[in-house]
Amino acid sequence: MTTTEAPPSTDLVEEIRTWLEESWDPDLTVAEWWERLGVAGWSAPTLPENAYGRGLSRSDSVIVSREIGAFGAVGAPAGLGLLLAAPTIATHGTQEQIDTYVRDIVTGQQAWCQLFSEPGAGSDLAGLTCKAIEDGDEWIINGQKVWTSLGNTADLGMLLARTDPDDPKHTGITWFACDMHQPGVELRPLREMTGHAMFNEVFLDDARVPSSAIIGEKNKGWTVANTTLANERAGLGAGGGGGGLAMVTPGTIAGSLDKRVGDFARTPKAAGEAKPKKKDKKKSDQSTAAILIGYAKGNGTSTDPTIRQDLVRLHILGELGRFNGERLKATRAAGGDIPGMANISKLSMSNIVRLQRDLGLRIAGPQGMLHAYTPEQKASLDKATGNPFLAMITGTALYAQAPPIYGGTDQIQRNIIGERALGLPKEPGPDSSTPFSQLPKNA
Ligand SMILES: Cc1cc2nc3c(=O)[nH]c(=O)nc-3n(C[C@H](O)[C@H](O)[C@H](O)COP(=O)(O)OP(=O)(O)OC[C@H]3O[C@@H](n4cnc5c(N)ncnc54)[C@H](O)[C@@H]3O)c2cc1C
Repeated sequence: MTTTEAPPSTDLVEEIRTWLEESWDPDLTVAEWWERLGVAGWSAPTLPENAYGRGLSRSDSVIVSREIGAFGAVGAPAGLGLLLAAPTIATHGTQEQIDTYVRDIVTGQQAWCQLFSEPGAGSDLAGLTCKAIEDGDEWIINGQKVWTSLGNTADLGMLLARTDPDDPKHTGITWFACDMHQPGVELRPLREMTGHAMFNEVFLDDARVPSSAIIGEKNKGWTVANTTLANERAGLGAGGGGGGLAMVTPGTIAGSLDKRVGDFARTPKAAGEAKPKKKDKKKSDQSTAAILIGYAKGNGTSTDPTIRQDLVRLHILGELGRFNGERLKATRAAGGDIPGMANISKLSMSNIVRLQRDLGLRIAGPQGMLHAYTPEQKASLDKATGNPFLAMITGTALYAQAPPIYGGTDQIQRNIIGERALGLPKEPGPDSSTPFSQLPKNA
């Protein structure tokens, strides 16, 4: 079973291929390559031209990523900067802020993290209590953030802080670009059941941000945050198309910027090797559905009708995501929109990962109880089981709990679809008229 791909726009494909032929040089450093890619508008092609993009649709940007991958070149400096901060600043920032922050994101110079969630403010994000107090041209920040993905490699954070507790809940919040390299910012990694420590607790203790780092207006950060969240849902959802190929970590902390870019290339030719060591393999479908189908055929579980049914269901969910993406593209091209599509895509992605988890473990059978946490363990597991995909299946099973939570839980996506797309009444409450300082809080 293979995925039918959308016919690419010939002009676009021609343009990016020609550009790659002229611009790729494996002997550049990673920083030099990303400078070329970003300034040419290929790192974040969905951004407008004044924000280092090309104003392309999300599905056209997927074509761009695919072409860069097929060429063998290193893709865009993907991460939360490209996915969330860049489109937010492109929408609400001044041209000066775009030239400062977005430029450094699309060229991979700076990596970002998202300082939104707090111990008492996740789904109810507007209930955040991290506070910012004005001090001349600066703001002093105190509070705690949690679940900060990739905070350990971030140069800057998208910080939401309460700047006026006497305003109602949603109106006294401001969106800041916060320097993570300062004494007032302390990170503590949180280890997950996957074995990784992707996210962190962040303690802000008299941290400082200049007023020039406010994106949008003071006390109007909720609108800005909604742009960030909309991009998160659209980028993470089924058929969303993300922000490029994540092969090398951007920013000053990860330590990749000075390395030779050819060493990260995807093919011997792009790496600048005179003689390819191995023959280029025939291109094959490596989608999770295709891997699981191959695995089920190999161990005989494909004869189980319920497994066959779920394999087809997985394939269909993937196709529905793609069709929804195409439908949105066509609707937007005609000047319209489909309200709630980003939320529907994210919900669909949750269903896909849950199905991948359950199906993968059913196909693996008792072997599904084995997992490798390190490359050494993976080598032993591969040898013992003769199955190189087992660690991916168990890894997916351990991680599958995360997507239905991050970027807004499934329940919250349904609330938004109900209220904003279907026009159902909002939950009644005093939130919109009472000063935040007078609202009841969790103990
Ligand atoms: C892998 C991962 C990465 C993350 N990365 C980041 C990050 O980089 N930066 C960041 O700021 N945050 C991050 N988060 C945090 C994430 O945004 C929150 O976990 C999420 O918003 C849910 O908040 P919570 O965990 O406080 O759960 P709660 O809000 O306490 O929710 C608990 C349960 O109650 C349900 N619930 C809550 N309110 C309602 C309601 N009104 N109606 C119906 N049901 C409701 C929820 O659906 C959930 O099932 C990450 C989370 C994960 C899992």
